[in-house]
Amino acid sequence: MSAAGGILEVLTADEQLRARLDLASRLGALAVEPRDFAELFRALYDETARVMDATVFLFALYDEASQTVSVVRQIDGGVEHEGGSFPLGKGFTSEVIRTAAPRLVKQWSVEGPPVRLLYGTEAGELVRPESAAVVPILSSDRVLGVISVQSYRPEAYGDADILNLRAIATQAATAIKRLRATDQLALEHERHALQLEAVLAGMNDALLIVDARGAIVRLNRAARELLRLDSASLVLGRPLERQRLAQWPKTAREIATALVPVIDSLRSGTSVDGLEIELSSEERCVLSVSASALSSPKGGLQGGVVVLHDITARRDLEQLREDIFAMAWHDMQTPITLIRGHAELLLRRLTSGKPDPKATRSAAAMIVKHADRLAELLTILFDVHCLEAGLLSISLWPTNLGALVRDLAEGLRPTTRHTINVLAGEGVVGECDERRIRQVLMNLISNAQKYSADGSTITVSVVADERTATISVRDEGIGLDATDLAQVFHRGYRAESARHLAGRGLGLYFGNGIVEAHGGRMWAESSGRGQGSTFHFALPLRQEREVDHRLERPA
Ligand code: ADP
Repeated sequence: MSAAGGILEVLTADEQLRARLDLASRLGALAVEPRDFAELFRALYDETARVMDATVFLFALYDEASQTVSVVRQIDGGVEHEGGSFPLGKGFTSEVIRTAAPRLVKQWSVEGPPVRLLYGTEAGELVRPESAAVVPILSSDRVLGVISVQSYRPEAYGDADILNLRAIATQAATAIKRLRATDQLALEHERHALQLEAVLAGMNDALLIVDARGAIVRLNRAARELLRLDSASLVLGRPLERQRLAQWPKTAREIATALVPVIDSLRSGTSVDGLEIELSSEERCVLSVSASALSSPKGGLQGGVVVLHDITARRDLEQLREDIFAMAWHDMQTPITLIRGHAELLLRRLTSGKPDPKATRSAAAMIVKHADRLAELLTILFDVHCLEAGLLSISLWPTNLGALVRDLAEGLRPTTRHTINVLAGEGVVGECDERRIRQVLMNLISNAQKYSADGSTITVSVVADERTATISVRDEGIGLDATDLAQVFHRGYRAESARHLAGRGLGLYFGNGIVEAHGGRMWAESSGRGQGSTFHFALPLRQEREVDHRLERPA
């Protein structure tokens, strides 16, 4: 059997048995004595340290409803630390709670989970214990908590220690039940706490509850997800600025840093309303933070509640509206000026009494041309707005894709300065919105024309297997490098090599949106600048109607 801090190894088997019996009888007394959980913790520690290595000793309660482990207190190398709580995670403590079975860890560095449990109490460098014995505190089948001893020596514990610890845990269970039952009010509180917990768990907004010291004492699932805290690395029960932020994920650190002044306000009793935090370390994210200070009926500060609401989508939509407005303002100037100019010219000629039919026709034609440009621009802006707002309407009909491609190419041939080849078999019929797919294809072909030299060849092909039709447009033009390839479908993106040509960077973005609304995907390939490009989009031949209500055929 294992040595226990040099205590048990000197005892004979007889003496060990007697020590265990003695322990059992004294624990019976212990169960009625503690007046609160902190006292129970001390009693349990004293008993444990008598019979085994209890360099690190931890006593935690488990809350089933919120799946939270609350460490009552803990001792490390004789120094007592405050507890904290963490959600059920991947560590040994959580494993014991989940399985309701004891766990002996002989060599943590070999068996241990890759993430360490942190309680936020360690001084300096984190040192991982080398061995541990963890037992559940059980009441019938329910796990009320755990007792865990850990040692910095490997193989400090054996089966006998688990037996001893289980004896201590049995008495702990009785004591916990007594402590909980003594006060009916406490039970009521617990019931309310459970109800509150359920409400918090169901909230979409991230919520943190802090105590008067500014320590985070509780957070809901949404907060955990937002902070991207792996369940086992979460640190609760400490003021935010004293957290081990360096070990938190980047985004969590950014949020935590922004929350420090918010929590400082709460500490001084001041609420915060709608403060915006923009995160940029990873994915862009805009959060609106509100915090309400809580005080007791007697007026004492109790801490507060911090609510974080993700407003990225709202901000993006606002930004889009601004962009669209700015773009519309900029792009409409030219056609409006031209329309006005030609209309004025026309008017002057008509009123001068000197009709010049040729000039009149030319001015009228210019007005028509620029009015068409204006209409086209408005359509693009409207479409992009609908796409972003999720209002893009798609009407599915069986469509012969080969015929559609041939028809488009045929229409372009008389005016294009390129050679347009079509490679499309007969009978590829997909269910799609013909008008929209025509729009997508038209944009790809116009890009191929725009971004390649006159006289070069553009090849449009349609291939299909049983489930998918893939349409590709290949050109011999300016090509795309790796950076461009990764971004061409982003709203407003224009490759540097393309900026000398007119464009808005909206066509591919919109086309991709249409293809996605069909349940398909779009991608680009190029061997690099000057090497030509191929744009592909794949459409499912038959649509799953349940997938998206916008894909329903109109009645
Ligand atoms: P626009 O052509 O109006 O800029 P698009 O959204 O259609 O907008 O295209 C976005 C960007 O993708 C273009 O600005 C260009 O940099 C690049 N691009 C699109 N098609 C091609 C192509 N066929 N060859 C090379 N680059 C292309």
